[in-house]
Amino acid sequence: METNKAPKYIFVTGGVTSSLGKGIVASSLGMLLEARGYRVTIQKLDPYINVDPGTLNPYEHGECYVTEDGAETDLDLGHYERFLNRATSRANSVTTGRIYQTVIEKERRGDYLGKTVQVVPHITNEIKRRIKLLGNTGDYDIIITEIGGTVGDIESLPYIETIRQLTWELGEHNSLVIHLTLVPYLAASGELKTKPTQHSVRTLMENGIHANVLVTRTEHHLPKDVKNKLALFCNVRKENVIECMDADTIYEVPFLLHEQNFDEVVLKGLDLPTDQEPNFTVWNKFLSNHKNPKNEIEIALVGKYVSLHDSYKSITEAFTHAAATCETNVKVRWVYSGDITEDNVGEQLKGVSGVLIAPGFGDRGILGKIIAANYARRNNIPTLGICLGMQIMAIEFARNVLGYEKADSAEMDLTTPYPVISLMEDQKDVSDKGGTMRLGNWKCNLTPNTKIEKIYNTTEILERHRHRYEFNNDFYNEFVEHNFIPVGKNPETELVEILEHNQHPFYIGVQFHPEYKSTVASPHPLFISFIEAALLNKQNDLLNATREKI
Ligand code: GLN
Repeated sequence: METNKAPKYIFVTGGVTSSLGKGIVASSLGMLLEARGYRVTIQKLDPYINVDPGTLNPYEHGECYVTEDGAETDLDLGHYERFLNRATSRANSVTTGRIYQTVIEKERRGDYLGKTVQVVPHITNEIKRRIKLLGNTGDYDIIITEIGGTVGDIESLPYIETIRQLTWELGEHNSLVIHLTLVPYLAASGELKTKPTQHSVRTLMENGIHANVLVTRTEHHLPKDVKNKLALFCNVRKENVIECMDADTIYEVPFLLHEQNFDEVVLKGLDLPTDQEPNFTVWNKFLSNHKNPKNEIEIALVGKYVSLHDSYKSITEAFTHAAATCETNVKVRWVYSGDITEDNVGEQLKGVSGVLIAPGFGDRGILGKIIAANYARRNNIPTLGICLGMQIMAIEFARNVLGYEKADSAEMDLTTPYPVISLMEDQKDVSDKGGTMRLGNWKCNLTPNTKIEKIYNTTEILERHRHRYEFNNDFYNEFVEHNFIPVGKNPETELVEILEHNQHPFYIGVQFHPEYKSTVASPHPLFISFIEAALLNKQNDLLNATREKI
């Protein structure tokens, strides 16, 4: 719906504790508004000093999500894209580090003309400018801005102050504040407690912000009297108190909120029409397939960050989307690569119908990944290698098929005589770690009459990258001669982006990250065909087992 009017702004803050799922609530709201025809984007403001999350440890912060234009961002941006089916960009991810960096650069250039540079107004103005950037594109009717952290944190203060100023400047009905809190349940007394929410709303008020809508995370339905109490003490309308129960899947959350007229409440608050009924056709089909699978398979995810599943968030979500298309339940078996040995690999991968070799950095757990790739290749188990995963497949192949026992990636062994994976030419002079990898969308041409061309059903694709190392083209011909074929290349640089084994049911390695592109409305073809290959593998295994019995 093109309203041709100035865009409206929604701010999502969080109270009481962190990890309440602001990202999912913001994404759900975005999805509901899009379903009613509005053009929506979601932005995240993160209160830490890192310039971007690219340098953060995945163990601590989960996956780093990469946008089309090559920004390394928070994993919540992945949810925004998966729910909205709309690409985000660098402008959708802002951190305190980025804000201060811009302000300090301006100060050094003399842009402030000798003024004392302060949090208010200089930092808050820069935050405001970045919030409005998206609105100024004219591409959106509604901008949802999620503020990371919890209200009351020292780090969040400049953001809260900016929202106070912005809501005042924008005027009534042009912006809305949604506050997400927790209503804990005390089992001993059997009570739902509203006090923490009251306190957090009060903290917001002390900072001059009035929350218009309360979304409360809760393990139990809120009875009417609890809702009324929250409305009275927190100064919001009764119908603006929305409960957000724990759901079986994050993809159900939009519907739980819609049942309580969340989208209508928000649109009314923004003085926007509510007459267009939401269209949920695609989501309904997805959810119905997701909840009623006809088959089940198990896929091993072999990686070194498996102790924190959020480190592979986009991969597991991509499985969920593609699995629904295939009407299959994909169970992920988390396999820590550091635990895999020649002796136990058969046991570790027993019963799985597919193996995914995960992305990663550094040399820990590498040997386990190589052993897993070897086992999957020799036993015809469908295998998808992503980024480091593709590099591992190449190393394994060079060692065990081409006979280069010491083949390695230059990332793991600088002195290897056979650097089958080498540092990219334009990375050789790079010393800074932040934002310097080969990032974002790059073109890739696919070789006609290959599996990969059939999967994508085209010969030109765009996929997102995040790496410094590449397949070494000195080994190109030998790989081809032995059937592990480079079937996708960058048209300008000839960098190999895809390797496909032409004598194996499904043994494909990709230098890019297909998982970043998968959404509910548009599951990724590579994940779909990987699951299909795994299903076929399972059927064959069952058939063979039956034959053996007979
Ligand atoms: N460490 C490898 C590289 O930099 C792979 C990166 C990744 O898996 N994202 O090339």
